[in-house]
Parts: sequence; structure tokens; C-alpha cells
Amino acid sequence: MATGSPGTLVRDLQGALGAAHVLHLPEDLIVYEYDATIERALPDVVVFPATTAEVAACVRIALDHDVPVVPRGSGTGLSGGAVPVRGGVLVVLTRMNRILEVDATDRVAVVQPGVINLALQEAAAPLGLTYAPDPSSQRVCTIGGNIANNSGGPHTLAHGSTVNHVLALEVVLPDARVVRLGSRVPDAPGVDLRGLLVGSEGTLGIVTEATLRLVRQQPAVRTLLAIFESVEDASNAVSETIRRGVIPVAMEMLDQEIIRIVEPRIRAGYPMDAGAALLIEVEGVAEGVALDAAVVEAACHAAGAREVRSAEEASERERLWEGRKAAIGAIGAAAPAFYLLDGVVPRTKLPEVMAQVMELSRAAGFRCANVFHAGDGNLHPNIMFDPAEPRATERVLELGEAIMRVCVDAGGAITGEHGVGLEKRSYMEWVFTPADLAAQHAVRDAFGSTDRFNPCKVLPGGHGCASGHMKEISPHLVEGAYV
Ligand SMILES: Cc1cc2nc3c(=O)[nH]c(=O)nc-3n(C[C@H](O)[C@H](O)[C@H](O)COP(=O)(O)OP(=O)(O)OC[C@H]3O[C@@H](n4cnc5c(N)ncnc54)[C@H](O)[C@@H]3O)c2cc1C
Repeated sequence: MATGSPGTLVRDLQGALGAAHVLHLPEDLIVYEYDATIERALPDVVVFPATTAEVAACVRIALDHDVPVVPRGSGTGLSGGAVPVRGGVLVVLTRMNRILEVDATDRVAVVQPGVINLALQEAAAPLGLTYAPDPSSQRVCTIGGNIANNSGGPHTLAHGSTVNHVLALEVVLPDARVVRLGSRVPDAPGVDLRGLLVGSEGTLGIVTEATLRLVRQQPAVRTLLAIFESVEDASNAVSETIRRGVIPVAMEMLDQEIIRIVEPRIRAGYPMDAGAALLIEVEGVAEGVALDAAVVEAACHAAGAREVRSAEEASERERLWEGRKAAIGAIGAAAPAFYLLDGVVPRTKLPEVMAQVMELSRAAGFRCANVFHAGDGNLHPNIMFDPAEPRATERVLELGEAIMRVCVDAGGAITGEHGVGLEKRSYMEWVFTPADLAAQHAVRDAFGSTDRFNPCKVLPGGHGCASGHMKEISPHLVEGAYV
């Protein structure tokens, strides 16, 4: 800490929020040293503000003490974005969890950042509306985290990711000023700073309120399960469906390994002998849905599907989705640990990229299970490993890097939806030129955030940050977490 003592920092924060909403004992801090990936580092203090004014007060106090600020929602992020690598004040937004307004006429919701994604969908449903971005973590993750990571989900293939559903934001800037960006009505004049904030991974400010676009629930929906002998055939079915002019609302791939992990646990109805399955959903008015479903079925058969089933009952549909949404959790029960990767490639490249992913995993001696938003070309290899084995974590990270290289070489990118965070900042140089990166640094500088506001995230370099992965960053790194 540069200014004052840890004791003064804690006292100042307690003065602003009340002692009950400030954690500083080691046994409390340890709960906040990680998100859902494998990086870990301890904050100096964790705060739980309840209002925008309290968030601004925390940022002001951190500024006065010259310590970093790191925003956090539910901590389900998969790139280390909420890990406080240089310590400081971890601002947890989960107390700000009120849905302030759902307006069926304007089709708009106004929410605090700690609202759980599914809670918003449930609040909109009785009005015949929904909030379209639906990460598979939607039972737990917050709208603030979704906005910061520009999260996607199974149903963003047709509806677009979070950035397409955010109309306006209230944000506490790194200098503690409160600003409003965007507007409730479309086409706000001026520079689109709302768009800049979405996907900025908590590096440009803390979202304290969001005005979101709701969409109408469609009157008819059809859920199909197409069974294939191989991931290659299933991948070709994705391209073939879209080539034939239908964009389903969801096209989710499950490979053989994940089916064999999920099915015995969830009983979703996936055949255990399938080489791969596609969970496909079309929606609209009933007549259109029937026509689209016929096109999807024909495309799947043309690509080699051995069977295409249609869920007849709502309960069957729910079961099929339950299997998909619980898949990542099921891997947790099947292996001591797993490393969930996130890359994106043009969807026509999926067959060859998936073949390379499996070959690299086999060569490295790891089981790899795949479940992903195939319609977006967004792949998620899950590398299963035992961290107790010598060098296992290092070898898994090396494999992850090799897989990211394959995605980039195929014309893709290093993240499809989980963000860059801490995990992939050193890969940014693979996809951006020095001039591109300088432009992004300049934006951060303009927000006054480079060294103090969620430091060592997204962009390579930065004061006190290691050039590559976080091995050398700071004493806040928990021993054994990463190397
Ligand atoms: C099982 C599982 C399934 C998942 N499925 C998906 C999926 O389908 N699609 C997908 O996109 N992601 C998925 N994720 C990743 C993750 O759930 C999302 O990135 C989610 O948006 C993170 O929300 P959170 O509240 O947990 O944020 P956190 O992990 O707490 O934080 C994520 C980032 O947001 C920043 N942040 C948090 N709140 C704010 C705020 N109010 N203002 C500014 N910055 C903030 C943090 O600093 C950090 O950089 C999955 C994760 C898990 C564990």
C-alpha cells in the first residue's frame, strides 16, 4: 500500500459502509481470492456497497490510499477478471440486486448490477418478455459481470450477445465521478461510450445501474436433438443449416466425452453411443417454426445425422436443456480439476479445428470434453486433469496456449465470450498490432484507469504487471495457484 496503513484503509471503508460490510480478516479474504478459473490472489479488503454513492465512496477511498480497485459480481468469470492480482479493494456488487423497473410497453428493464441473470428473465416472463443473453451460468452470474464480459449464451446466436441488449449505464469512473452513458431511447447522440464500457472487463469503471432491452417471447418454439457419429458431421450440419437460410436461436454442440459425463448424472435423454449431438432450437410463429424445423432436419440429415428428435413435451425440452446447462458442473464431478478454454473460429473451420484440439489433447495425455455454442463457432474444450500430478497444471496451461494458437491460425480469436482477463492478456499480441494495442491503452489512459483500476487485466504490460502470465506479478499471488 502506497499511502496510509492497511488499518486506516479498513477504518475509512468501515466509516463509509459500516463495519458489517467490510471484510479484512485473512479467513474472510481467502473466500475472494479466485473466480471460476485457476488463478488466485488475495485482496487487502473486500467491500459490499449497497448504493451508487457507496460504490463511489469506496473508489474515492481507494484513490486516496493509492490502492487498486477490482469490481466483482458472483465470481463465475472464466478468465481471472475478478482476481485481485495486485491486492487492493475488491468491490463486490451482490448487495445491489434490485430490479428497479420492468416496462412492458417500452420493453425495457432497469436493474442494479448484482441482479442475477435468471432473476431478470423470471421477472420479465409474466409480461411475455425475456432478457435474451443467457449464459449457461445464468442461475448465478450477475448482470454487471455479463456487461463487463459482454457475455453470450446458447440463445445469443440469433439475438446477439450482451452488447446488443444494453441501452444505458450508470458508471462510477476510476476518479469516483458518477456518469450516465447511452440512453433509454435508441441512437443516443455523441460518442458511444456505452458500447465502450460493455466488454471492458471492469477496467474502465464500475457499472452501478443498467437499462436493458427486453425482447418478446415467441409464441412457438421447437427443440431438436440431432445425433451424429462424429463432431465433424455435427459441425458440418451447423454450416449446412445456416447455408440453407435458417438461423436457429440456439445450436449447441455436445461431443461424445461430454455426453458420457452428463447423461448418467442428469438423464437428459442424450444417447450414450452418440459421437456428437446438436441441441437446436427454432422459435417464432407456429407456421414459421414448423418450416424452419423442417429445414434444420433436412440439413442435419444431409450432413450425416443418424437421427433427429423433436421434443414433444415442455418437460422433454427442459430436460434436454438441463443436460446442456449442467454440463460444465458435471465435469467437476468427473475429474479432480478441469481447465475450461474459450476460443472462437469461423464456423466453417470447426471440423478441422476440433480435430486439432482432440489431437493436441491426446498427444498431451489429457481427456478433453467439449460443449459449446457451435452456431457462433465458439468452442469450449474442457481439459480434465489432476493438479496433484507433477507439472500437470503447467502442462494443461501449455496445451491451452497451443489450442488458442490453433484458433487464431484458423482465422479466429482468443476468446468468444469469457473475456481476456488475466488469463489471456499475453495472447493479445497474437491478434492485435502494436498500434491496435496502443489505441486500447490510450482509451484506458483517458479513463484514468491504467495502473489502479482492475490492473493487469486485458492489455499486456502495465505498471507492476508481468509481461506474460501472472507468475511474477505480486505477493498477492497465492502460492501454488498458478505454477
Ligand atoms: C459453469 C459456467 C458456465 C458459464 N457459461 C457461460 C456462457 O454460456 N457464456 C458466457 O459468456 N460466460 C459463461 N460463463 C462465464 C461467466 O459466468 C460470465 O463471464 C459472467 O458474465 C460473469 O459474471 P459474474 O457476475 O460471475 O462476474 P465476475 O466473475 O465476478 O466478474 C467478471 C468480470 O466482470 C467485472 N465486473 C463484475 N461486476 C462488474 C460491475 N458491476 N462493473 C464493472 N465490472 C464488473 C469483474 O471485474 C471481472 O472482470 C460461465 C461460467 C461458468 C462457471
